[in-house]
Amino acid sequence: MTDENKLAVSVDVEDWYHVPAVTGSSFSEYSDVHEFFNKWDKEYDYLTKPTHRTLDLFEELGIKATFFVVADVIDNYPGLVEEIANRGHEIGCHGLHHECAIDPDTKEPRFTKEEYRDQISIAKQKLEDATGEDVIGFRAPNAYVSGWVLDIIEDLGFKYDSSVARNSLYNKTDQSLDCIETEPYTPKSGSLDPGGNRELVEFPWPYFDSIIGKVPTAGGH
Ligand SMILES: [Zn+2]
Repeated sequence: MTDENKLAVSVDVEDWYHVPAVTGSSFSEYSDVHEFFNKWDKEYDYLTKPTHRTLDLFEELGIKATFFVVADVIDNYPGLVEEIANRGHEIGCHGLHHECAIDPDTKEPRFTKEEYRDQISIAKQKLEDATGEDVIGFRAPNAYVSGWVLDIIEDLGFKYDSSVARNSLYNKTDQSLDCIETEPYTPKSGSLDPGGNRELVEFPWPYFDSIIGKVPTAGGH
């Protein structure tokens, strides 16, 4: 690998019941993960084995990545987050229970700013307690992000966000993303638009311009 050919790799660490159809959104089957665990009496862990396979593959390829972890993984999969960190990867924050910040349909906030701030503050602290490292990166659950979310995470001490996905089949934010390219940028205060002068940096998800539109070169949520 040369300096001109570097690859940035990130992984979201969450299980199947964190997807919005199951928990964490306005159209979820269960109101939240607590209700899911109260009612679900079958096997739920489809995360541990794939995470181990991913860690082994990265080791084989010599890749160090950022793992954006849903903080309740710490409670439900003891030792897993610690293992990711011990194997040399960066731990980022992917919410407390993978709750969407804004409603997927209306794009309105699903929480007050104070409620959302409290969730993310608890998540950050849990991840830092588990790993003994500062957590400076954030990825919004399901990429439902907004300018006010960036304001909150900056205030909580995050140094970067990686949630803006202009390549999505549909826009998951509450504003136009027309002015957003693929390079890292500084968002304006209260906005996802470039041109700010604060410390928080946004790493938007990559896309490739083609004649059929903006083709995603990254996936997940
Ligand atoms: Zn996710």
